[in-house]
Amino acid sequence: MAAPTRLISRLTLVTGGGSGIGRAVCQRLASEGASVVVADINQESANETLSSLPDDFRGQVHTATVVDVSSKDSVKKLVTNIQTRYFQPPSVCVNTAGITQDDFLLSMEEEQFDRVIQVNLKGSFLVTQAVTQALVACGAPKGSIITVGSIVGKVGNLGQANYAASKAGVQGLTLTAAKELSRFGIRCNCVLPGFITTPMTDKVPEKVISKITTLVPLGRMGEPAEVADACAFLASDDSRYITGASIEVTGGDLLQFIFPADVVFIKG
Ligand code: NAD
Repeated sequence: MAAPTRLISRLTLVTGGGSGIGRAVCQRLASEGASVVVADINQESANETLSSLPDDFRGQVHTATVVDVSSKDSVKKLVTNIQTRYFQPPSVCVNTAGITQDDFLLSMEEEQFDRVIQVNLKGSFLVTQAVTQALVACGAPKGSIITVGSIVGKVGNLGQANYAASKAGVQGLTLTAAKELSRFGIRCNCVLPGFITTPMTDKVPEKVISKITTLVPLGRMGEPAEVADACAFLASDDSRYITGASIEVTGGDLLQFIFPADVVFIKG
């Protein structure tokens, strides 16, 4: 079966596009015909993603650029530069930029809490706001904002009070954005990955990974491309009647599991 081409002539922005899930999202959107702006705090990794993108469709132009999603100035500049370069704002935006700084609640420093909230939650807010302001201002007929949350935002996880709070936060942000922006034709949804093999989970000790996989009904970690599949669906008109939703990409219902006390993400 030929790959779908649902995103021909759509301009898309992917934050955190330099690695892991974000890189897979860039590759999937490009393979469906979209022009992709790869935005990451790390220019080198954004460039690496850029060089991996197919450009088989007429008019398809990809770019790589630096952004710090936690900075309002940086995000504003990003959206302005995109409009200058492409003469339009992105009609698809995938917020994948995210970090972890794990520690137990009893010992977590205020800075660890603040930084994770700033990147994961405030960053998603700043990017969603800047992109949708631009879409509304130019009278764009439709838009799709996708934010990568986490199943941890629903179930919690030992050592991740900051991360779980940030990921629960992006679901609340998305639900509200979906209600406010539907009248402008802009849909807002979340994807909630479970445990996906990326540089982020490379930090998790091997013995913890093997415990996690025994708890996943499908019996394995997920691949970044499997999260990208859900993002491409939400980006496309195939999901035109879906907004304010959260799609779990977890290999099965992790809610029914309580992780044993030794399944902790903290290294060492
Ligand atoms: P990753 O570390 O491989 O990629 C994250 C990317 O975000 C990196 O390229 C990094 O440079 C970029 N980034 C970090 N801070 C940034 C900032 N301030 N501004 C712009 N870019 C920034 O991680 P990943 O596993 O691919 O995670 C992607 C998203 O998926 C994250 O939001 C993460 O929380 C979420 N997620 C991952 C998993 C998993 O198991 N890997 C599970 C659930 C959710």
